[in-house]
Amino acid sequence: MIKMVHRSSIPLHWRLYEPKYKLVGNKCLKCGESFFPPRNICPNCGRKGALKKIVFSGRGTIYSYTVIRTPLDGFEQQTPYVIGVIKLKEGPKIVGQIVDTEIRDITIGKEVKSVFRKIYDDSPSGLIHYGLKWVVIE
Ligand SMILES: [Zn+2]
Repeated sequence: MIKMVHRSSIPLHWRLYEPKYKLVGNKCLKCGESFFPPRNICPNCGRKGALKKIVFSGRGTIYSYTVIRTPLDGFEQQTPYVIGVIKLKEGPKIVGQIVDTEIRDITIGKEVKSVFRKIYDDSPSGLIHYGLKWVVIE
């Protein structure tokens, strides 16, 4: 029996690299609202809007969060872990893992910054996936 394995190819991995470690979105030059992920058309201005690519600062505050005690496959060793909704300084909200912080120290409104971390190992190929996570700024 042939076992199908879904695994990202190396070229695909590198093509997706930039968006994984930078928060790239866009901003409407007409109304000033920022979007993540980037939009094709500004929902406020429609076709009159003018969207420009921007890289977000990676700073924000915790808008809400939840403690995960029943992990997805591959995340067992990190359990319990915290998934938060981060409100970026520029406005958009983004979902991400909050790390390096005691769970009791995670509260709504605390300031966070993005960090580049390992997401998971794609064993047995040895491919390691990286991406952005969030840490509380004391
Ligand atoms: Zn607009």
